[in-house]
Amino acid sequence: MTEKEILLTSILHCSRSALYSEDWTLNNEQEKRLFEALSLRSQGMPLQYILGEVEFFGLVFKVDKRVLIPRPETELLVEAVIRRMKDDRRPPQNVGGRPPELCGGRRTTDDRRRILDIGTGSGCIAVSVAKSLPRVRIDALDVSPEALALAKENAVKNCVDERINFIQSDLFFVFNENNANNRLGRYDIIISNPPYVCSHDIAQLQPEVRFEPRVALDGGSDGLDFYRRLIAESARFLRKGGLLFLEIGFGQRKSIEKIIASQSALRLSEVINDYSAIERVMVLGYG
Ligand code: GLN
Repeated sequence: MTEKEILLTSILHCSRSALYSEDWTLNNEQEKRLFEALSLRSQGMPLQYILGEVEFFGLVFKVDKRVLIPRPETELLVEAVIRRMKDDRRPPQNVGGRPPELCGGRRTTDDRRRILDIGTGSGCIAVSVAKSLPRVRIDALDVSPEALALAKENAVKNCVDERINFIQSDLFFVFNENNANNRLGRYDIIISNPPYVCSHDIAQLQPEVRFEPRVALDGGSDGLDFYRRLIAESARFLRKGGLLFLEIGFGQRKSIEKIIASQSALRLSEVINDYSAIERVMVLGYG
């Protein structure tokens, strides 16, 4: 659908074919909404923020300026996690550390797999994974309390909120020894789509992207700040045989491989290309 079709079908609550096959007259309220939407769009606001929702992995997510708009390529990251989890025949276990009390807000004395989603934003990754894997429990972290509030709404909207625990944390900070909330446990899988745009490139991005939270995009001077931290710290939180799934930006694979080589704990297990043949997901194994 074109943007105008998307706007009109949303305002009229009709299908694309009905838009053309029926006679429509906008009432005052609908006309007001249309003009407001066109005006915001002409200022560069992304259509998804104007509509207030987006489809991702076959589910509907609320989005607004608190969170990055889920990108279609991130569906590959979700798919990769689900595929690995479904193939994983090993018995669930937690190696070392204290009991994983954070998961789902309650003790996990059951056999469920544990996943950590770092920088959850809208919650699109955590919610989609939880929806497809009914036995997993997920801890979803984000530095932004505003993003977490929206992510929680999305978990409720998609009926998976009982299995996702949303926690405010700058990367692994919530697990630090000195932090009162420390509850060290090991995860089967850690997932992250961290900010990976170089700071100085942000101003050059399409105008739409400038409406999105900078904190969700800015990966530091070379775009790799979060990979350095994630790769250095993940091993402490993964069970033996656990995996770290990372979304990566265009052309970042080689530099990230160097970061991996400088740490002994993780090794590269798989690289997955997106539909434009861009290396988009890196899977790292521990142990
Ligand atoms: N894929 C996003 C973009 O190109 C960036 C997302 C991110 O930094 N994680 O705008």
